Amino acid sequence: MAEWIDIRSMNMEELTDALVEVGEKKFRAKQIYGWVHQKLVRSPEEMKNVPKSCLDKLLKDHPFYGVNEVERHVSKIDGTMKFLFSLHDGNIVESVLMKYKHGNSVCISSQAGCRMGCRFCASTLLGLSRNLYPSEMLDQIYAIQKATGERVSHIVVMGTGEPFDNFEALCRMIEMISAPEGLNIGHRNITVSTCGIVPKIYEFADRNPQITLAISLHAPNDEMRRNLMPIANRYSMEELMKAARYYVDQTRRRITFEYSLVKGVNDRKEDAAQLTELVRGLNCHINLIPVNPIKERDFVQSDQNNVTAFKHMLERQHIQVTVRREMGRDISAACGQLRKGYKERGGNG
Ligand code: SAH
Repeated sequence: MAEWIDIRSMNMEELTDALVEVGEKKFRAKQIYGWVHQKLVRSPEEMKNVPKSCLDKLLKDHPFYGVNEVERHVSKIDGTMKFLFSLHDGNIVESVLMKYKHGNSVCISSQAGCRMGCRFCASTLLGLSRNLYPSEMLDQIYAIQKATGERVSHIVVMGTGEPFDNFEALCRMIEMISAPEGLNIGHRNITVSTCGIVPKIYEFADRNPQITLAISLHAPNDEMRRNLMPIANRYSMEELMKAARYYVDQTRRRITFEYSLVKGVNDRKEDAAQLTELVRGLNCHINLIPVNPIKERDFVQSDQNNVTAFKHMLERQHIQVTVRREMGRDISAACGQLRKGYKERGGNG
């Protein structure tokens, strides 16, 4: 089990132990935890009823890590907000607040950069800088809730990074965000998206069975998937679909497949037919995403007609399918483009 020693990543038990170790009373753990995870303080000094001497002792070996807002972009179309945050070491991550009828949803990053190498994705172009701590994932949510005054009810782990490549920190973040001592956001309101790290799908099914899992599929067969996503060289489609079926059987939850439509690559009739066969009998939902072109690659978005035709072919086979609504279209394009653009303009991270 990985360990994090910064105050906001520690669970109640670890925080209690850390306080006892520096000669402080156990009850301070509950106070500090409440300040951090419910009152969402932005600095240790805001913890009004905790003596400075106690905090000083604790902070010596346990830093107060989190995120700091460096940029905010607000969509004039739908109010979607994209945030660029800096981390204590100068790394940059991006997060998005989306407002829906059913509540406010925050999309968080799980890593600074990514090493999965998906061909169409901007987040991976500069490789992986490092994993995020649980506190840095949590604080993207806290900072947004605090800055906007909007209560966050849903979380999607779909920003930069591969969450299953930072698995223990992800599980810790989920444990803390869903606890009554924290923001108490239920597992059913949390979605985790993976490019398909098969062994972790099994482990996740066993450990977090009420969470919605989304698998980035993007192709209906091995050959095509390998051209788009290097991870497909590691795990075959057969292995991936077996893991997806295990997830559904184990959790009784509907699984989501994300399928980004690239013109002339994976949006043909025969691709839709093959996709239909692949998911037959599986309790799933397919999310079609017209690919968001990035300037470093020459992938082109499918024509609207093709997207509609693709969708209808799946619907005719009684597969649940939606075309993802593009939120905040005017404020930035694909995943990871904001962060990359910031770096190109000379920002750190
Ligand atoms: N690493 C995880 C989560 C982050 S990516 C994963 O792969 O699922 C979130 C989703 O956006 C994934 O489905 C990813 O494939 C998709 N995506 C990334 N870049 C995109 C682009 N340029 N256009 C459309 N979808 C993209």
